[in-house]
Amino acid sequence: MVQTTDSLTTDCCIVGGGPAGLMLGYLLARAGVKVIVVEKHADFLRDFRGDTLHPSTLQVMHQLGLLDDLLQLPHQRAERLKAEIDGEEVTLADFSRLPVKCKFMAFMPQWDFLHFLATRAGAFPGFTLLQSCAFEDFIYTDQQISGARLLADGKPLDIHASLVVGCDGRSSKVREKARFNSQSFGAPRDVVWFQLNKRDDDPAWGMGHKGPKQNFIMIDRGQFWQCGYSIVKGQFPVLAEAGIEAFKQQVAAVAPFPDSRMEELTHWNQLRLLDIRIDRLDHWAKQGVLCIGDAAHAMSPIGGVGVNLAIQDAVAAANILTRPLLRGNITLAQLNKVQRRRQFPTRATQFIQIKMSGKKRQPGQSSPLPGIIKRYRFLPYIFGWIIGLGFRREKPQRLS
Ligand SMILES: Cc1cc2nc3c(=O)[nH]c(=O)nc-3n(C[C@H](O)[C@H](O)[C@H](O)COP(=O)(O)OP(=O)(O)OC[C@H]3O[C@@H](n4cnc5c(N)ncnc54)[C@H](O)[C@@H]3O)c2cc1C
Repeated sequence: MVQTTDSLTTDCCIVGGGPAGLMLGYLLARAGVKVIVVEKHADFLRDFRGDTLHPSTLQVMHQLGLLDDLLQLPHQRAERLKAEIDGEEVTLADFSRLPVKCKFMAFMPQWDFLHFLATRAGAFPGFTLLQSCAFEDFIYTDQQISGARLLADGKPLDIHASLVVGCDGRSSKVREKARFNSQSFGAPRDVVWFQLNKRDDDPAWGMGHKGPKQNFIMIDRGQFWQCGYSIVKGQFPVLAEAGIEAFKQQVAAVAPFPDSRMEELTHWNQLRLLDIRIDRLDHWAKQGVLCIGDAAHAMSPIGGVGVNLAIQDAVAAANILTRPLLRGNITLAQLNKVQRRRQFPTRATQFIQIKMSGKKRQPGQSSPLPGIIKRYRFLPYIFGWIIGLGFRREKPQRLS
């Protein structure tokens, strides 16, 4: 039986309903551009998504008039980021003096944030979100990209568009199909994720997003704790060989809860490996296609800045591309402008992530960081600026 292909036409097809894709979709639709965001999952629920909304992201929400409603959603606030290093609690970053409306980082489940953005974007007539809809390849007309070929609930769907924007994250298929070259900077660690049920009598282990503490992090998801345990890259098969009991012992040694809580883990398949990587594309665009967010530059969790960068990319892309999209003539030069605008903050942030992840200590050697921070008391404010605002702030354009 020959399957028929449905088809839609729009100005811009955005692949991926993560922070970059939904923010770009919101901004374009707000300016009157017809936009379809396609998301391969049926919902926004994902275990390992950054849950941090940085001061610069909150500032963008403020500038869009969305902040007050957003902060009605359950969240925790942190004016300072602390970490335990060699048994000592150290303030790494202080946001309390930043020149923005929110001098704090908000911890909010990312699915709540994405659902909020999608709902607000849905109020604009030109916005469509298609879930359970996965990008497969491009449509070509006269050897030029002229849209996206998708699978929507398993059925083929063609979306014809002047521009396809890849916001499909670290394992981007848009990046692969466009044959963009990337440079990889490796990352020395991976993260093993698992869940433990929350109990009524659990103590308040931090502000809902505790850590990193001896390679262990736990995020309060309401019903359960989302736990992440950082391991040396490539060691997952070795851990698997040693078995679930050995893994439980390792985690119990650094986790804040009693060893008995680990009894909930009975099978290796309750654990999920998240491969951490840092990379970036040489060129973010070709005629008809642009990548932003992790699709253009995969970020490691260090500093928890990836969501922030993805949002700032989206704002810059919307500022540069709204008019050409409304006119219906997008050129490669305009797409390249987005890369030029966002290349420096990406490189600078990745440079810091690479430096921070590359420092290896000998066993028994203590970290110099607590001493350095005590000596140079201004450092947490500088880190607060870098983590909280990044290297280049983007402001959504006012609507004329
Ligand atoms: C372990 C870990 C922890 C992290 N913690 C933090 C943190 O605390 N704070 C922080 O700011 N950053 C954190 N980051 C980084 C952050 O998660 C990313 O930088 C950020 O999510 C990038 O946003 P994005 O919109 O570009 O991509 P993503 O958030 O990856 O979104 C991509 C979207 O595209 C969809 N998609 C993928 N393929 C397709 C397809 N073929 N068709 C349609 N849709 C598709 C996906 O389902 C997803 O919804 C962390 C990263 C890791 C690895």
